Order: sequence, then structure tokens, then C-alpha cells
Amino acid sequence: MKFQYIDTHAHVNFSEFDEDREEVLKRASDEGVFVVNVGTDIESSKRAISIAEEYQEGVYAIVGIHPHEVMNLEREGLVDKTLAELKELAKHPKVIGIGECGLDFFKLSEYNPETDLEKVKEIQEKIFRGQIDIALTLDKPLMLHCRESYGKTLEILYDFFGVHGVKLRGNAHFFAGSLEQAKAFISCGFTISFTGVITFAKDYETLIKDIPLQNILSETDCPYVAPVPFRGKRAEPVHVKLVVQKIAEIKGISIKEAREQIEKNVNQMFFA
Ligand SMILES: [Zn+2]
Ligand SMILES: [Zn+2]
Repeated sequence: MKFQYIDTHAHVNFSEFDEDREEVLKRASDEGVFVVNVGTDIESSKRAISIAEEYQEGVYAIVGIHPHEVMNLEREGLVDKTLAELKELAKHPKVIGIGECGLDFFKLSEYNPETDLEKVKEIQEKIFRGQIDIALTLDKPLMLHCRESYGKTLEILYDFFGVHGVKLRGNAHFFAGSLEQAKAFISCGFTISFTGVITFAKDYETLIKDIPLQNILSETDCPYVAPVPFRGKRAEPVHVKLVVQKIAEIKGISIKEAREQIEKNVNQMFFA
């Protein structure tokens, strides 16, 4: 696949883009930016697919269940049904991965008042493992969402890596862990991606310097976390150029070099 830039984790499938979705995607394609829209539940996953279907090239989908969604499914007894439905969606040719899925232990008690937190973690893990199974069965990469859960996430990935080896692969999106954790992800077949946050938060500089460029992908996670100079506004895929520019600046290389290596990385992970 040939492109200038790629936003490997966008949510143009969300309602924030209902008013001007086509223009947003046109702005991206005008600048040579490919877009991967990521689902967080069945509904948004379906929307990601239907948007991708409208474009011959340059717009793709990843389908999955976000850890924030899992307790509702559990309460309604929909876990198995939803995973089965997800597996069917994931077979679509425009679907290039499974996610965003993983564990999110950030403010767990605030998001789950009056719920046994161990139970919440258990259900998150169950649905995460279910999605890893789907990825392995369909031979597609994972799009991981982990927050305050890197240790446990890696433990689970190593379980699967031990059995399936290099068949297990994917990307840890919105990475905010340590260099050791990044290396652990890389050693079991994962890349690491960064958002617009790196344009304003200094704490990413050493991390980005120390992670080899061959293991890095670019993303926006739009509509969230717009990069400088768009902070506080709605982010959109074309902003991924600023993320790549920042990665190049931190690494002391040209934008072209950063761009071309990320293109290789993405092709290897998602379009091989
Ligand atoms: Zn996420
Ligand atoms: Zn996301």
C-alpha cells in the first residue's frame, strides 16, 4: 500500500463527525493521509466498515469492543453473542484488525460505582482474551487499548505468544508506559503508536528517542487529543502529519525518513 501518512487509530466513525465526515476524509485524502477508523462496540464497528466501503482505497476499519463497554454486555448477558457478532464483522475485507480491545483500569471505581472491581477486571480480561482469539483465528493484528494495565496486559499477551508465536501481532495505541514495557510489547510482536499528545507533553521525548523507528506507528485517536496548534479543538486524521513531524524532530531525522519508515511498518503489520 502506497501512502504519504497514515492515521492508524481514528474515530471518524463517531458522532462528532456526523456533520462533516466526507469533508474530513477528503481533507485527509487530499494530503495523502490514509485513515483507519476503529470501533469501540458493535455499532461503531459497523459504522467504521460502512464508511470504509464508500472508498476504493485509503479508508479502512478495525472492529472491536472497548474495555469500557464490557460491563454493559455482561449485565445484559450479551458477551458471547457480541463476540460471535464481532467475529463475523471482522471477516470483512476492509477490516484490517481487531480492537480497540484490552484492559482499562483507570478510575475503575468511578466508572463502575457499586460494582465489585475484581469482577470488572475479570470481565475485561475475558472479553479481551475473546478478541485475541478472533484475531488469531482470522490472522489479523490487534489494536490494543491499555490504560493503567500494562503489566496485566503483557501477562495475557505472553500467554498467547507462548502458544502462537509470531502469529500474535498488533499495535499498542496511545502508548503511555515505560521503555521496558514498550520493549516487552515489541518482543511479542507489537508496535507502539503515539497521538498528538507528544506535541505538547514533554515526557514522551526520551521514550520516542529510545524506541526504534521500525516499531513506531502514527495515530491521532481523533476526535480526542488534537496536536499543537489545534489543542482543545476536535482532532481529525490530517493532524497525523504533525504527529509524524514531531517524531522526526525528536529523533533528529527528516520527515521523509520518518514517513517512509512508518509506511513500511504499517504495511508489514496491516497490509502484508
Ligand atoms: Zn483507546
Ligand atoms: Zn480510540
